[in-house]
Amino acid sequence: MDKNTLKGLYVEELKDLYSAENQITKALPKMAKAASSEELREGFEEHLEQTKGQIERLQQIFEKLGEKPGGKKCLGMEGLLKEGAEVIGDDFEDAVMDAALISAAQRVEHYEMAGYGSVIAYAEVLGEDEAASLLRETLEEEKETDEKLTDLSKEINAEAQGEESGAAGQEVDEDQAEVQPKRKSRKVA
Ligand code: FE
Ligand code: FE
Repeated sequence: MDKNTLKGLYVEELKDLYSAENQITKALPKMAKAASSEELREGFEEHLEQTKGQIERLQQIFEKLGEKPGGKKCLGMEGLLKEGAEVIGDDFEDAVMDAALISAAQRVEHYEMAGYGSVIAYAEVLGEDEAASLLRETLEEEKETDEKLTDLSKEINAEAQGEESGAAGQEVDEDQAEVQPKRKSRKVA
């Protein structure tokens, strides 16, 4: 495949996405393990299953193109996931850790959304309609995941803010406690 054509670029960027998705399948279990909000952990686990399906879609597209998916490493995703690993290795309180995990995960989703947006546009110009529709399904999943993370961040950020005041010896009132997400382990201040 001549790289210096739109079709060549399309294949190269599909390979990049294939590498990115595969890297994500290795990172998500670690992010799930590091999350203490049950909802966040389940969200990561769900997205891991979705990601496996996204890899299958890419494999389908490569098969139709008569191309092999391997041979390229997505360095952008490698960097984003290194930052995520740094978060996991940090000594954060539960809710602060969850807030940082969400931030790292949203960077990943936005990077993916940019990548899928580009290949969808190429596929449309190239008349690769079936691939475009498969790629649009994946883009939708990335967008939904990003939105779920935004929703979750609202309560988790509020709780992270509460952890700070908890450390200052303030009691969390009952109304506030009710909106807080369930945690597998709540540290007692
Ligand atoms: Fe993905
Ligand atoms: Fe994703």
